[in-house]
Amino acid sequence: MGTTAYLDFNATAPVRPAVAEAMAAAMRISGNASSVHAAGREARRLIEEARAAVAGLVGADPANVVFTSGGTEAAALALAPRAPGDRLLVSAVEHPCVLAGGRFAPDHVETIPVDGDGVIDLEWLERRLATTPVPAMVSVMAANNETGVLQPVAEAARLAHAAGALVHCDAVQAAGRTGTDLESLGVDLLSLSAHKLGGPQGVGALVRRTRSVPVVPLWGGGGQERSLRTGTEPVPAIAGFGAAARLAAADVSGEDKICELRDWFERSLRTISPSAVIFASGRARLANTSCFAVPGIAAESAMIALDLDGVCVSSGSACSSGKVGRSHVLAAMGVSPDLASGAIRMSLGWSSTREDVERLLKAWRRLEERFAGRRQASVVAA
Ligand code: PLP
Repeated sequence: MGTTAYLDFNATAPVRPAVAEAMAAAMRISGNASSVHAAGREARRLIEEARAAVAGLVGADPANVVFTSGGTEAAALALAPRAPGDRLLVSAVEHPCVLAGGRFAPDHVETIPVDGDGVIDLEWLERRLATTPVPAMVSVMAANNETGVLQPVAEAARLAHAAGALVHCDAVQAAGRTGTDLESLGVDLLSLSAHKLGGPQGVGALVRRTRSVPVVPLWGGGGQERSLRTGTEPVPAIAGFGAAARLAAADVSGEDKICELRDWFERSLRTISPSAVIFASGRARLANTSCFAVPGIAAESAMIALDLDGVCVSSGSACSSGKVGRSHVLAAMGVSPDLASGAIRMSLGWSSTREDVERLLKAWRRLEERFAGRRQASVVAA
């Protein structure tokens, strides 16, 4: 057993060894990919190989992959009005980088409600798309970062296209973990991030279905990435993304093993803490994610105790700022603030083992025993 059990892949996945090797090799090349000499051509070759691998992961044409600094920038690049007055619809459970609406005016961004499991209300969407002003764009994520719940993206895209709207999908958590084929999803724009796949942090991509999907650059400059994202390309990061995408595409069988581990965790959790609530457990979810709360156990205390026991998980909220805040995802699902304040997310990935999960379960058992003691003491005191 290692010094820590890392069970926080939805925050970031450990870099795969082959990715680190690909990046180290790329760092030994001194060329700028725009230079015409041999070193420049070698850098360009690495970028184009990575572009093909990322395109392969989502069934896209490599010419339609634009490298960015990550999922946040990919969403910012996608979410722009194409004409004055354009409106955007986003699901209520999007990652904050989408929820903010990119370059749409804040009062032109509306949210699509979700049900108690965090799945979008397609009937609401259909009704809204039939009223004016018709939204110019709809953004629905493939898989939620907190609960892992999958959205009916293809159905939402069909409705949006029938109303003439463009469709963006944040596939940052889904790519490499479940089907994110561009054609099957039927979306126009797809955002990806390397660091959820075992690639490096600080690189991602916006993928277009066809060259005719309009993209409005965030800034101007030297014309790299077909002028859609100019600036000297970070060759080692892009090469690492390519290696991670290649490995993720080849590793689809790993999903079954991960699902078994997750299901075993949830069965054991229910034995240890019979009052545990596992969010969206009855719906199609990412195989690697479990988001749960036990009434009376605050996430903040649980996180500290688990950390002391060498277990890395996240609270079900605020995974970006490090502080425990109220989750807008659980709030949109109608989860009570009390229960939501106990939400913990554990997420598995390529390096996860049964020992990691066992360590979490042992730590959770200790925590439950402590809290059960306190619950009993408060009943006696009352
Ligand atoms: N979208 C989702 C669903 C995410 O989980 C994240 C990161 O946590 C992002 C977007 C942002 O990606 P990045 O960290 O590459 O900016």
